[in-house]
Order: sequence, then C-alpha cells, then structure tokens
Amino acid sequence: MADFSPMMKQYFETKEKYPNTILFFRLGDFYEMFYNDAKTVSRELELTLTGKECGQEERAPMCGVPFHSAETYIAKLVAKGYKVAICEQMEDPKLAKGLVKRDVIRVITPGTVLENSMLDESKNNYICSLYYEENAAGLCFADISTGELYVDECHAPDLDVLTHTLQNKLSRYMPSEILLNPQATDLSGLEDFLRDKLSAAVECLDFEVYTEARAQQAVSHQFKGRSMEELSLSERPLTVLALGALFDYLSRTQITGLERMSELELASDSAVMGLDLNARRNLELTETLRNKERKGSLLWVLDRTKTAMGKRLIKAWLEQPLLSPAKITLRLNAVEELTQNRPLLDELTERLTGIYDLERIMTRIVYGSANGRELRSLSTAVSRIPGIKQLLESCDATLLRNLNAQMDGLEDICRLVEAAIVDDPPFTIREGGIIRQGYNPELDEVRHDMNGGKDLIAAVESRERERTGIPKLKTGYNRVFGYYIEVSNSYKDQVPDDYIRKQTLTNGERYITPELKELENRILGAHDRSIAIESRLFEDVRTQIAAQLSRVQETAKAVAVLDVLQSFAAVSVKNDYTRPVLNLSGKLYLKDSRHPVVEALLQDTPFVPNDVDMDMNDNRVAIITGPNMAGKSTFMRQTAIITIMAQIGCFVPATVAEIGIVDNVFTRVGASDDLSAGQSTFMIEMSEVADILKNATSNSLVIFDEIGRGTSTFDGMSIARAVLEYVHDKKLVGAKTLFATHYHELTELENLLPGVKNFNIAVKKRGDDITFLRRIVRGGADDSFGIEVAKLAGVPEKVIRRAKQVLAELEAADPAASEYRASLHVLEEPVQLTMNSVDSEVLQKLRSVDVNTLTPIECMNVLFELRNML
Ligand code: ADP
Repeated sequence: MADFSPMMKQYFETKEKYPNTILFFRLGDFYEMFYNDAKTVSRELELTLTGKECGQEERAPMCGVPFHSAETYIAKLVAKGYKVAICEQMEDPKLAKGLVKRDVIRVITPGTVLENSMLDESKNNYICSLYYEENAAGLCFADISTGELYVDECHAPDLDVLTHTLQNKLSRYMPSEILLNPQATDLSGLEDFLRDKLSAAVECLDFEVYTEARAQQAVSHQFKGRSMEELSLSERPLTVLALGALFDYLSRTQITGLERMSELELASDSAVMGLDLNARRNLELTETLRNKERKGSLLWVLDRTKTAMGKRLIKAWLEQPLLSPAKITLRLNAVEELTQNRPLLDELTERLTGIYDLERIMTRIVYGSANGRELRSLSTAVSRIPGIKQLLESCDATLLRNLNAQMDGLEDICRLVEAAIVDDPPFTIREGGIIRQGYNPELDEVRHDMNGGKDLIAAVESRERERTGIPKLKTGYNRVFGYYIEVSNSYKDQVPDDYIRKQTLTNGERYITPELKELENRILGAHDRSIAIESRLFEDVRTQIAAQLSRVQETAKAVAVLDVLQSFAAVSVKNDYTRPVLNLSGKLYLKDSRHPVVEALLQDTPFVPNDVDMDMNDNRVAIITGPNMAGKSTFMRQTAIITIMAQIGCFVPATVAEIGIVDNVFTRVGASDDLSAGQSTFMIEMSEVADILKNATSNSLVIFDEIGRGTSTFDGMSIARAVLEYVHDKKLVGAKTLFATHYHELTELENLLPGVKNFNIAVKKRGDDITFLRRIVRGGADDSFGIEVAKLAGVPEKVIRRAKQVLAELEAADPAASEYRASLHVLEEPVQLTMNSVDSEVLQKLRSVDVNTLTPIECMNVLFELRNML
C-alpha cells in the first residue's frame, strides 16, 4: 500500500467502505473505475479498459465515463442489478491544497433510484425489507421516488403457510430490491422466488442491524421523534425491526433527503384479495404471460389515465382488489356518476391531461435535485388544481366530494414559482437567468451592473471605430482571453499603439486594451455574483416548496385517485360496461359477459357473450368440456377477470352482473414458464394444484384448466377427479370452481356430486369440418373433436386419415377405458369427509403428504389409502 500514489490510497480507503458496489470515482470531468470494478464495467457496458499510473510497476486497470453523461451508464448497471457508489470531489480542485477531498454522496441501487431516466413513470419502484423469525415476519415496502411506505406483519401456523403468504405479499408489490435478515435466508425457496420470479436484487444485512433499540431509534428518528405507539407499531416488533433495517440501509445509501418518507401506512390483509403470483400472471392482469407486455393485459384495456400518478395507482389497484363492499361501492358510485355525466367526465379528462408527476417531482425538490424547468412543471400542474376542484364541487358521490376536500388549491406554490422563476428556465443554474427580473432587488442591481458593462463594451466599439477610422472594427468575447477588439487584415496598419495583440486569425487580428480588461472584470464579477445570488434564491424557493410536502403529497394522491376513477368511467362508457351489483352470498350471475381483453383484440369477428350462473350450493363447480380452441380458457378467465374488475371498483363487460365478493382467485392454467428451473411440467402443475387445495376457501374462485395432462391418461384422470371431488367438498374447500377438462368421463360426476354442473362450448359439425359457436351451453360435450381441430390447424390430410383409423380401432377395443368407467361407478357415494373421528385421521394423513414429491402413482395410492380410512 505504501507504494501507491496518494490518490490511489484515497481510492482504496473509499472502496473499502463500499464493498459490493461499483465505485464511480470522480476525477475532473470523468468518473473513473479501477481494478475489478473497471473490468466489470468495461465488460458490461462494452467500454475500453485502459490503465492509470498508480505508483506501482503495473498500471491500475481503469475505465471511465464522462460525468455529464454518467446517468445513462449508471442506469444500465443498476438495471443489471449492480449497485453504484458515487464518489464526488468535495472541494474545488483549483482551490484544494494537496489531494482533493472526495466522498461518496450516494449509492444507487435498484430500489433506491430517483433519476427520471431510470424510473418507469407507470410503475412504483419498491424496496422491501423483510425480517423473519419463527413462523412470523415483519415487512415494509417503500417507494423512495414517491415517498410511499407500507408496513405489514404476518404470523402463520407453519413455515409453508408463511412462505405462501409472504410470496403473495411480495408479488403484490414486486419490489426491485429486498433486504433480508440473516435468518430469512433459512426460508426455503424464498431467495430463489425473489431472484427468479420477481427478478429482485436481494441483500442480506448483518445481524447487528436487527436489534430492537437500534431499530426503534432509526424509526423514531425518521418520523421526527414519534413513538412506536403513535405510529401504531408497538404491537408489531417484527415490523419495527424490518423498518429499522430499511432506514439504516437507506441512510447509508442515500446519505440525504430521506425526510420524503414522512408517513407510514399499515397494510391490512383483511382489506385486499390474496392473489398469488400464478393468478396474477395467468390472468394477465398487468402484463401478458408470454411476452410480459402491457399490450394484451387487463391493465392495457383499463388504463386511460392521464397522469403518471394515476398510471401507477391504477396498476396498484389492479394488484389489490378490495374485499370490503363498502369501499368498493364508494368507488363504483363515483364511477357511475362520471359515466352518467358525460360533459363532466370529458371536462375532467381534459383537465387531468398532462398534469406533471407531482409525486416524483416533490421527491426531487426535497432531495434538492429538481431544476428550474421542473419547478415550472410543478406550477403548471398545480395551476390546474383549482379548476379540477371546481368541477368536483357539483358532484354528489362521496368519494368525489372527499377527493375535492383532500385537494389543496396550492395557489401559494403557484404564485411563488410564477414570481420567482422565468417562463423558460435554463437547464442548470450555472447558465444563469433562472430567476425572474423583479423578484429580488439585489439580483436586479447586479444584473443591471452586468448589463451596464455590456452596454459600455458596445459603446467602446462605436467610439473606437470612430477614433481609428476602421469601419469593420468589432468587439467580441471568448473564454480564453475575454473581451477583445477584432480588426481585419486590410486595416491592420490603422491599429493604434495602445492595442495589445492577442491572437492572429487568417483574415484578421484580435487585440485587448486595459479599458476592455477593466470592463471585463466588472462584467464577469457581476456575472459570478448574479449566479451566486440566483443559486441562493433558487435554493430558497425549492426549500419553501419542500416545506409544503405534505400538502402537495395529499393533493397528488387525490389527483391519482380521481384519474383512476376517470379512467374506469371512460373505459366503461367506451366499451359499454355495466355497474356490478355486489353481494356477500357468493352468487355469481353474469348475463352476456365478455372477456375485456379478447374483445378488445378481436378485429374481424365479434366476441360472443356468455352467461355465468354460479353460487355456493348446487352450482359451485362447473365442469367445462369442448374441443381445443372452442373458448374454454377464455370463458373461465373472463369470469375471474370480471370478478376482479368488480372488486377494484370498475364496471364490467356484461349486461347484468351480480358479483359475490371472493377472497381469492386461484388459477391452474396451462404449461408454466418454469421449465428452466429444472422442474418437470407435471411437477409444477401438481405443486400448483397442491397450493390451491391448501389455500382456497369456500369464498374463493378457482380455475382449473385441464389438470392431469402431464401424465398418463388414467393417472391424469384419476387426479383430476380426486381434485374435483376435493374442491367440491364444502368441508374441505367448497370454492366456486371452473374446471375445464378433456376427460369426458368426469362429466358423470354431475350425477354423483350435488354441486357439480356440466357445461360445454358448442360447436357445429358438418362432415369433417367444425365451426366454433363460442356459446356455452349446459351438458357435457360428447367429443373432443381433436382430429377435426388438427385438420383445422393444417395437419396433413394423410395424418388426419390415419388418426381416424387409429381412433376407430381404439374405440372398438377399449378394455382399459371401460374398466375405468366401471370403477367410477363403484364409487356410488361421492367422497364425503365428515368432521368426526375419521376426519382427523384423514386430515392428518393429508397434511403429512408432500404432494410435490409424489409420483402420480403414489398420489393414487395415497388417495386410495385415504378413502379406505372413511
Ligand atoms: P380453449 O381454451 O377451449 O382451447 P381458448 O379459450 O383459448 O380455447 O379460445 C381460443 C380462441 O378463440 C381465443 O384466442 C379467442 O380468439 C377465440 N374466442 C374464445 N372465446 C371467444 C368468444 N366468446 N367470442 C369470440 N372469440 C372467442
């Protein structure tokens, strides 16, 4: 170390404090990286690797980026999951004695970015902190860019349930970065889930961060001395530990500006639907399953928001459908009023259009990074608020009235910015001219001085022209030697003696004079002073606005809600949606319901509407048969999607909709995208089925799309039937279930189980050709029309002919199938588990089974064993 140059030593000292980060070390106009950091960055960003003298024989590997364009490079590194520590020069190198003082001012990580270019305006960017201990966990989710902060705590009877609950909660917020206590790494599968399914950066913090005293102090410090009681955290010690760790981490990475997070919201489980990641993905709520695109998702159809705040909120609402009929009704009433008053809706849409992102701009104001243009955008946005409030004045819906009350006209902020900042401010303060003339007398005077100097230079020009008789003599300015007089070559001889030559050009000469120098000093001095005053004034305006954070924040929240309601209303009007009627009796009745996304995507053919009539009794399980491509999946998904739409407070695509509020929607659909994780499709299918059977309740809605496909027909059919019987059983699950299958044998269950009804999707067959009618009708389908669908898909005629031949042979001699059918009838009574002594044995056995590790045949054996216990 002794041999290293002083600067290199400084580098190592800094780097030691920030391990696991890439250190951007400011050297003049560049950020430089050295050694391994340099190699990583040059590889990841395809930058040239060079070297720097460092006092050693070999040069230090080095790689650099210009400081003014560093943001794009940092963005790329952060997107790849790296953390970047920004080490700045803390003093002016020109004035520094010896080595320039340097320090890290911020560490940018995936969950702590604030820069516009690194954030998606339509999404929140959460950082999560999770503290786990013995079947319980405290959680918090913070979006630093908007100041939102949610806390949550969960306690579970066993680790399985806890992991499931945690995964659901994490899927709701999709954090880009997560902090764990060391024990949390014991939660099996959690880290993989975070990295693989949520693509989150995971950071395990040290034990010592998690002491009660330290955490309480960090929390209390963040909330300006408020006690745990005042924050409603006294009964939530695990949450306090998670929060403490978060603030600790943030203060180490952000260094300043954390006051933005001034409020904390307790998340309540009873308030929202517990959708798991599978259901969110399969129903394509916010992105499509295949390409992860917004287009083709439910959000894509519903989102007609006009502001970034609204865009983020509509996504958050969609990710958290409500359970409380009162809360849903508040939203529905507001949407209804807007749909019924078109002029109001149109006017509101127009006034919301283009309102700048108040939440994120306030963050940059609080952190002191907002520029003049952003302050202007703030005032333009704020100037719209009184107009919006005025529109809401005439509204009746409670929510709309509440929003009006929540919005602050913020006229003072608008006046301040209007008075202080020019209409079209420059990008940076250094350019000058950000503060409006007339705002500050001192600044005006200095500017006057500066302009006076410039006028005098102009006067020098005309006086010297006259004195020398050189008509084309002119004054000018350059950065190297300041103000000069320029004379073209043809008049060189007329130049007076007191001119001092400074520069020779091809067609002329440039001179300075003592008088020009004096004026120059005056102008430049005034210029520097004016910039200093402008910086101070600008800083002051920014601080004044920052002090109004909570008012702006409240208003921004109200604008976001209003924007989402406006969007729901606009979509409902455009697509002819209906207000759903909510009930708590579990009845689901839809007349002429449509799939909102398929409907929007279909271009040439109209969408065929269908009815749904389910309840918690005789119509709780619907077995749906019909050929591939008939529309089974679409029908099932639309039923789930409509329920979700109703529970977020939106109108729904149907002519009549009575919706029994569900606590959860579960889906087991098609092949998953998890093959890369080394699990077989069948294994994934079964573990998803296991999850559903464990977690669904009689108030849930379950969708099974062809289960048991990944194994032999008999295995598959047996599993499908056992699963169906299980969900049908009111004492076990009893959920409303839509069950699509190709095992036509299962339709016999309608005769055996009281809650099961058969449906099929009608097709018209003429000869070998079939036409999809897309109508759902009562009764089982008599055929899968697999061969006809294959023909429709263009499989060669020869293969089709041969398939028919094989089918005929199979049907002629089908001992196996008939054997199975016979076995079905042995089961005269449906599996009915009663809550008596056998019950506990059966339940015990069931609980001890790890469905994930069983082979299909073992599953069968377990089932038989269970049945024998009855
Ligand atoms: P299945 O699950 O029976 O194989 P899908 O539900 O995937 O069939 O439907 C196949 C295609 O049929 C869908 O992509 C959609 O384009 C079209 N479709 C489904 N239902 C309808 C409907 N009710 N009206 C119009 N087109 C539909």
